[in-house]
This record gives sequence, C-alpha cells and structure tokens, in this order.
Amino acid sequence: MGDSEPKKKGGLKLGSKVWVRDVDVQNPDVFVIATLKGIAGKFAQIETETGDKYETDLFFPANPVGHHQSDHTALLHLSDATLLANSKERYALDEIYTFVGPILVAINPFKYIERLYTPDLMGKAKKYPVGHPDRPAHTFSMAEAAYMQLIKQKKPQSLVVSGESGAGKTEVNKQCMNYLVWRACDESSDLATRILESNPVLEALGNAKTVRNNNSSRFGKFVTMRFNDRHRLVGAEVQTFLLEKSRVVATTASGERNYHIFYHVLCGARLLPSSEPEWARLLKRSGCLTIPHVNDQEEYGGLVNALRNIGVSVTENREVQELVAAILALGNLTFGDEDNDAASYISEPDVCTLAASLLGTSASDMEAALLKATLKVSKTESYTIEQDPKKAVLGRDAFCKTIYQRLFDYLVVRINESLGTALAPGLDFIGLLDVFGFEIFEVISFEQLCINFANEKLQNFFLRAVFKAEELAYKNDGIRWEAITYTDNSAIIEVCEGKDKGIFPALDSVCKAPKATDETLATTLHENHARTKILCRPKAGGGGKGAAKGLSDKEAFVLKHFAGDVTYSVLGWLDKNNDKLSEDYEKFLTKSKKVLIRDFIAKKDEDAKGSKAGAGAANKPQVQQTVSKGFLGSLKKLLDALESTDAHFIRCIKPNNELKPNLLYGAFVLTQLKCSGTLEAVELMQRGFPSRIPYASIHERYKSFMPDFVQALPPSEFVEAIALAYGLTKEDYQLGMYKIFMRSGKANFLEELKDANL
Ligand code: ADP
Ligand code: MG
Repeated sequence: MGDSEPKKKGGLKLGSKVWVRDVDVQNPDVFVIATLKGIAGKFAQIETETGDKYETDLFFPANPVGHHQSDHTALLHLSDATLLANSKERYALDEIYTFVGPILVAINPFKYIERLYTPDLMGKAKKYPVGHPDRPAHTFSMAEAAYMQLIKQKKPQSLVVSGESGAGKTEVNKQCMNYLVWRACDESSDLATRILESNPVLEALGNAKTVRNNNSSRFGKFVTMRFNDRHRLVGAEVQTFLLEKSRVVATTASGERNYHIFYHVLCGARLLPSSEPEWARLLKRSGCLTIPHVNDQEEYGGLVNALRNIGVSVTENREVQELVAAILALGNLTFGDEDNDAASYISEPDVCTLAASLLGTSASDMEAALLKATLKVSKTESYTIEQDPKKAVLGRDAFCKTIYQRLFDYLVVRINESLGTALAPGLDFIGLLDVFGFEIFEVISFEQLCINFANEKLQNFFLRAVFKAEELAYKNDGIRWEAITYTDNSAIIEVCEGKDKGIFPALDSVCKAPKATDETLATTLHENHARTKILCRPKAGGGGKGAAKGLSDKEAFVLKHFAGDVTYSVLGWLDKNNDKLSEDYEKFLTKSKKVLIRDFIAKKDEDAKGSKAGAGAANKPQVQQTVSKGFLGSLKKLLDALESTDAHFIRCIKPNNELKPNLLYGAFVLTQLKCSGTLEAVELMQRGFPSRIPYASIHERYKSFMPDFVQALPPSEFVEAIALAYGLTKEDYQLGMYKIFMRSGKANFLEELKDANL
C-alpha cells in the first residue's frame, strides 16, 4: 500500500473529507484531515482544517468519523491513512486489538485494562466463530481460532507473535497461553500451574531491563502446547533461540541491567559478601541497579518457588543460585594492569576462593583456570603458559557467558521434563512463537544479523501463510478464491544463507582459513555479491539506517532488508562465530563436586546428556559447531515446525518510545506496520476482495433510507439489492455468509448511498 500511488479514488466528491500527508514531515501523526476542493489529474486541491490550502497527490478518502471498525478490512476506504486513523480512534477508547482480516494487530496500552481479560470475554471468544460480526478482536479469539482449526483440520497450528522490543509480544503470548489453558486444560491437572510457572523461570534468566522495555526478553521462544485426541492439553515443550549471552559480562549501556536473576540472587540468597548490587562489577557498570516497582528481594522468593514448581529439588535450587553467584564473584576479579604484557595475577584472592567454593572446586584449580592456558604444539605435546591480563579477562568472560548459557539451556530441559512427562509422540500441537523483531541500532553486528535474518525467514513464511489464511477466510464465508501473485523476499534470503556464497556459509569458510581476519570476510562478501544489489558497499559517511558512521567496505556491508537498509560492521565476527570455551576451562568444570556443574554444565558425553534431556534435547548446548551453523540449524527446525502448521499472526505495535499510556505517534506506528509486513499483507488483500463489510452493519446504517419493501429483505439480499442499484457488477463483489466482500474502492457506493439520501 505504498502511499506514493493513492488507490482508486472513484466516487470521490468535491467537499468530501480526505487524509493528506502533512507537509510538515516532522508531524508525528503523518496525516491530517482536509477537505477536497478540486481534482486535476493525479492531483487534488485540498484545504486543511487549519486553513492551509495546497495541491497534493498524496491524498486518501477518509471514512466517516465515529464508526471505528474492529477489523480494518471493514472500513469503506482502506489505505495507510485510514488504517492509522482507525487504530487511533480505537486506541483512544482502549480498544487495543484490531483485526486486519485474518491477522490481529495489538497496540501496547502500557496500562492494565481490566475489562479486556475477563472470563466473560474468554467466553465470547469461544462462542463466536471466525467471520462472525460479534467475534471480539482479541488475542483470545486468535487462540480460539487456532484451537478450533486444530480440531477441525486435525493439523498442528501456530500463533506467531512478532513486533519490536517492548511492543507486547511476551504479554500477548501469555494471554494466548492463559486462554488455551482455560479452554483445554482439565481442572484436576496441575499441568496448568507448571506451564504458567515456566514463564517466571525463563524470564528470570532470559529477561533484563533495557532502555526499550523494563522486562525485555533477550531470547526467542517457541512453545508447543500438546493436545491429545480428545483435544485436551496434556503437555508442552519449550524451545529457545539466541540468548543474548554477551549481556552477562557486558551490560554497559546506561539505563540497562543484566539478567534479572543476578539481582534476585544477590539480594535474596546471601551467598556473596554483600547483597547490594553496587558490590558486583557486572551489575554496577551501567549505573542502573533497580527497576521501578520491582523489588528484587521479593522476586527472589518468587523465583525459588517457580523453580520448585517446575520440579527443581532443594539441592538443585541451591546449586543454580550458587552458579549465578559465582558468575558475579568472577566478574569482580581483576588480573593486574590490562595494558601490560606481564603475567596476570588475581588482586582479590578472597573473592576467587569464594567463586571456587560456589562452583564446587578448589581455589587452586580456579586460579589455574583463570591465569594459565595450555598451548598445544602437536598432538602429543603441549605446555602451560601464563596469560597476560587482557587474555585472562577474555577467558574469564567467555567462561561466564558459557556457563550462563548452559545453565539457561539446562533449565529449559528441566522445564520440558516437568511439562512433558505425559507426552506421547505425534500429538497435535499449537505452537506459540515469541521472537524479537527486526533490529536497527547504532552498532549492528553479528547478533543482529541473526535476528534480522530470522525475521526475513519469518516474513517469507508470513507472506505465504497470509495467502493460505486469506484463502481460508474466503472459504469460511463461501467465497470464490482466485490465486494472486506477489513478489517475496527470497533474494535476500539467498544472499544470507545461499550455498557457499551466502553470508553465513562464507563466514564459516573464512573462519576455517588460516590467517583470515574480519577484513577477509568483508572483502569476500563484497566479491561474492558484487552483482546482487542486495549486499552493497557502505556509502561514504555510512549508508543505511542506524549506520555506524564512516565505516569502509573493509569493515562493513549494507544489506537491503525488506524493512529497510541496514549497515553491519563485521568487527569481531570471526571470534563470535567460533565462540568455543577453552579446553582448560572445560576440564576445570569436570572437576566440580556439585552435581549440577559436573553432570550438566560441564561438557560431557553428549549422548548421555541427550538422554537426560528427553523432550528438550533441542536445547543441548551446541559445542562443536560454529555459532552460525548452530543458529541456522535451530532456525531451520523452527521453520520446519511452523511450515507444518496453519499459522495465525499477531503483530504487536509499540505506540511510543516513552513507554507511556494514552500516547500514540502515527509515524512510529506506521513504520512498524510496514516492518512487520502488515501493510504488505493489506496490499495483497487489496488484490482480492479487501473490503469485507458485515451485512448487519450496512443494514443498520442504511435501512432508514430505504423503502419498506427493501428494508424487509433479509440482510444479504438487502445489501445485494442496493449494491446492484448503485452500479456494482457481479465482478465487484461476492456475498459471504455474514459479509459482502468487495474489490478495492468498491465500497464507495455506500458513501454515495448516504449522500443521495441525506
Ligand atoms: P516484548 O516482549 O514485545 O518486548 P512485553 O510483552 O515484555 O514486550 O511488554 C512490555 C511491557 O509493556 C510489559 O512489561 C507491560 O508493562 C506492557 N504491556 C504489554 N502488553 C500489555 C497489555 N496487553 N496490557 C498492559 N500492559 C502491557
Ligand atoms: Mg518479550
């Protein structure tokens, strides 16, 4: 729905209201309402409400005020401008959810709206089928649609929730989960508690305060809820992706915190010399120690309970906390002057001893692991060297990140054991996907490429699935469906993962080459893709949004994503991709006396771990392969799972960046609708029958203008009679069960009808 080319203006009369793009490009609302004064070719003369008069080709017919619609496709005129206007009108009334045909758009209210989450509303979502005019625009209805389709089609389903950080994805996921538990879980079972209690455990380990969200999930999550042949919920499985483990040792951005669990354990467990976050270097660096309205001491109690509820024993619970405390202690160690090549030493021996005891090892083993490294000269020969302070820091940080990641993976395995005891293979499922949206920041690196690539894959999946869903919507209403063509984003996907030349495979081969550097990678990528026009050299001064300014083509490349151009700096990619813990640290872990560390955190025989992992084997630490291989593997697994489902999409939107209630910036919302592919989906719908107006609402609004005999017709015949009377042909519309489906621009006749009779 590119706004450069306004769609059909048929039937627009002088004097009618239109939306025009504001001449003030800074206007956060984008469009202003104006009166149409004249039309010459593509251009319209308009007058705004503040008396400005000008000519523009960016104008869109406006809908009557005060008739907001719970489905954008029920608007008489559908365009970027009216979609936004309808969203705003609804948002002001605390109607935060709106359908766009089969898709649900949810705008974060940043306040609790009690009436939206009542059992009564759950009942309504259950009662009204897809397409029914009384079906509430709600996450519950989406979950119900998935559930009903699971039963009818006997096929797995998925609810795919996307949006940028802080847009409300995790909340929406919880709502869907709550609904499905309410809908399909036997009351006598404690499965519901276990499913819902898995959230606080995952959030304590995987969520942190960021500038964009006080409770930001720093990992992707796919939860499959499993149903037996009586359609009752019998278990669930969690799969996670791309935990941002760098946060463990590098929370330096002001206003951000490390993972919640560190603060909870520090305050609550009393395992360290102080329970004040100022004590821990890993926590105090960003200067942000607390979250408004969150009491870490109380949260600690909640965490211990939640761990117990997923079946973690008292001893295991303590060992989890000790491992977390050990990371904080290790973070406090310094190794001498980092600018000096001299051998390192530990300036805080007491803290080192404490870390060792928390990890269940001896202080001397701990010290050796931190300060020494084994250098292999041949298969049989090796000797020990002293690390300089810089290397010691890097080694320690890698160690902390790895054990944290393994702890996270281990708890996912434990959650899956607690949720999956009754799981039989081959059960149908509803998958809930909570995945970070497209990321454009100042410094864009390898981690964001992974996230953005995942979004490209999901966008591709989304476009294909919207077609399927459209087809279904038409089928549900008994409408003829004609396939339409569209262009997708396969080209950029090929640039990223294409055999040999794609970014990820190229990264792997550069990593294997002797003496290769980050620069080798950049050069290889530019050579590989010289002709694609999708991967380009950065423009002088830094091209693309969020570009780190002034990067050369030896340091960076620009990718043309569906959501916009992004500049990636390749600095450190080779190290990031290899990301292996040293053998010395691996050996050190096996010496631990703690069961948790020795048996599950230490890298041991993978098969043994796999059998313990059971249903959660997917979360086994991937130690052997490169990060990019591991990532592509889990992404493929996710997409294969999604492909096997009928997908239902929920697009979460952030109304403002200040996280404030009752404040919505149009431009900001529109960008997200574009990035999420929602506008593209509407464009797709435009090619079919995008306007779907319930008979009842037309009947209600226009019956008083009609002679008695027309009024008395059943609603569908009433609507068809006036459509034909106003010159619509059989090509322009189709009659569904509850609605009339019209081609783009054809709903105008309803406006004319009103004008004619007033
Ligand atoms: P995301 O997962 O997309 O990063 P979250 O789901 O964590 O975002 O939401 C961010 C914050 O916004 C939440 O902590 C909550 O304060 C608020 N929020 C989101 N959705 C809702 C909602 N439906 N009702 C009330 N507050 C919400
Ligand atoms: Mg989240």
